[in-house]
Amino acid sequence: MALRLDADVVVVGAGPAGAAAALFAARRGHRVIVFDKQAFPRDKPCGEGLMPAGRPALRELGLEDDVISDGAPPLDGIQFGIAEQPPVAVPFPEHNGGEPAGLGIRRLTFDARLVDALAHDTRIQFCPRTAAREIRTGDESIATVSTESGEVRARFVAVADGLRSAFRHRLGWTVGPRPPHRYGIVAHWTMDAPVDPWVRITFDRGLEVYEGRATERSRWRCGHRCATPTRLVRFQRWVRSGTAHRP
Ligand SMILES: Cc1cc2nc3c(=O)[nH]c(=O)nc-3n(C[C@H](O)[C@H](O)[C@H](O)COP(=O)(O)OP(=O)(O)OC[C@H]3O[C@@H](n4cnc5c(N)ncnc54)[C@H](O)[C@@H]3O)c2cc1C
Repeated sequence: MALRLDADVVVVGAGPAGAAAALFAARRGHRVIVFDKQAFPRDKPCGEGLMPAGRPALRELGLEDDVISDGAPPLDGIQFGIAEQPPVAVPFPEHNGGEPAGLGIRRLTFDARLVDALAHDTRIQFCPRTAAREIRTGDESIATVSTESGEVRARFVAVADGLRSAFRHRLGWTVGPRPPHRYGIVAHWTMDAPVDPWVRITFDRGLEVYEGRATERSRWRCGHRCATPTRLVRFQRWVRSGTAHRP
């Protein structure tokens, strides 16, 4: 007797990758269950820049205009620089014959918009605050996903549990990141001066400092990565030396 399926597709993780996978699957007529272990809206460290290549996917999902009306300002390109030297500006190339700009968007806003789209699609059952614990594949090409609130069976499972994906390692698809590990700190400020439409990446003695705007209303964001935890102290000093104030 054929096993009953709870969904065609189960998606683990409702970040941009999981939410987009779920929405694309649902738009093609599949029944989808999405699990995320967190409650939404949820924030996460991110440079909060949507590259030009991401916009056609948003457009196809009918979400690009919503994201722009949520206050996402355009980003024209990237300025690379070394501390205390003039930067080199690289404009984003035109994408698909006419789309030059990326978008700056707060993750809180962007992820909430995606999750809202999940909640409004009748083919999607969205289950926040539900961690997936195990994925098993069995006979008849059916996968079972066990969560803290029970098991579901589906034909396909999309594992979209993030950069540090535990499932990816557990399922033997990749090995973990090798040292030296990189760390990121993100902060937001409201500026008195207008904010220009460039992402700025500055290399400074082992640090990479990312700056750009994340909303139209002169809000500034800073993404940052570094190779060792001790260097975070230098970044904290850099953050504190700013003249801007926190919103
Ligand atoms: C400092 C920093 C700056 C960055 N800057 C940028 C940038 O400017 N632009 C950019 O595109 N990317 C940037 N990134 C990368 C960014 O993290 C990814 O682009 C993006 O978040 C990936 O989306 P995702 O959906 O794969 O993962 P995530 O957004 O991390 O979502 C994964 C989701 O899976 C859920 N999850 C995890 N485990 C489980 C489980 N067992 N069960 C259920 N749910 C689970 C989590 O709760 C989470 O909501 C940056 C990253 C860092 C650290």
